[in-house]
Amino acid sequence: ESKARGGNSLTMFTCDIDARYVERQRLEDDLRQAVAEGALTIVYQPVYTADGTRIDRCEALARWHHPVKGHIAPNIFIPIAEEIGIISDVTRVVMEQACRDCMTWPEPVSVSVNLSSQDLRDERIVEVIRNALASSGLSASRLHVEITETSLMEEIATARAVLDRLQEDGLTIAIDDFGTGFSSLSYLDRLPAQVVKIDRSFVLDIANQPRRLQLLQGIVQLTRRLGLEIVVEGIETEDQLALVNKHKCADFVQGFVYSTPIQGDRIADLVEQARRKYGVRGIHVA
Ligand code: C2E
Ligand code: MG
Ligand code: MG
Ligand code: MG
Repeated sequence: ESKARGGNSLTMFTCDIDARYVERQRLEDDLRQAVAEGALTIVYQPVYTADGTRIDRCEALARWHHPVKGHIAPNIFIPIAEEIGIISDVTRVVMEQACRDCMTWPEPVSVSVNLSSQDLRDERIVEVIRNALASSGLSASRLHVEITETSLMEEIATARAVLDRLQEDGLTIAIDDFGTGFSSLSYLDRLPAQVVKIDRSFVLDIANQPRRLQLLQGIVQLTRRLGLEIVVEGIETEDQLALVNKHKCADFVQGFVYSTPIQGDRIADLVEQARRKYGVRGIHVA
């Protein structure tokens, strides 16, 4: 009897793997189709000055609403797109739409687009970006690209060449999720980056984690000395925000405390709202 049961559970185990394999295949097919049909959408999260008086730029974040499964997070579908070789299509689609949407926002509000590590391994990304700028009419000075530390470790020569050309074109380069990847520091003085986005793990529960706050201050000191602009990501509460500002840890803040990601057609209103309240340049500049 126990033998029979063992046989059963082995069969079930095998079936389970088969089912997961089939399910995964289906998801890959659905993603391929969604990208081909232009079914991915974009939401934008405003990046405010640390004092909250002005929106400087908005980050484009891809969204996939699956017809059956509903919302699928980018942390799930972006790695799949990379694996099945369609991330360059995703990047191009997001880049083109983001540039067009930014054209509808008040100047000089910018847009920030995430690049995959794979994008940096192919110099053709430079043309993709130039085309998106040209066809939308957006000035390169209003476009930021976000790259992660880890993406810089692979094929550094190509990545460098790509980033140099983007920099020459007048784009702003931001290092995303800073502090979570490998070799965080060694390349900081060698790369044409102007912005560092400090990962949200460095502000999690900082009110009760004094050592984490010190770590954050250390990172901020170091990056400021290199002349980099600092965005702190993932600030959710007024308490976190107050601490970050008390210790002057951010030039800009991106987090639920100021705004969640929203539809692109709501950005202009938010920008105007801040301008009515604080003036075009916010309250810091005369
Ligand atoms: P990311 O580039 O670091 O984007 C920030 C993520 O943090 C977004 O998640 C955003 O919704 C979330 N976030 C912002 N403020 C808060 C906060 O206060 N609390 C918390 N808990 N989360 C906050 P999202 O949209 O789920 O995107 C996750 C990641 O997926 C992004 O991280 C980025 O790495 C990737 N991604 C999204 N869109 C694209 C894209 O178009 N292309 C590529 N290559 N990657 C993308
Ligand atoms: Mg990002
Ligand atoms: Mg990030
Ligand atoms: Mg990221």
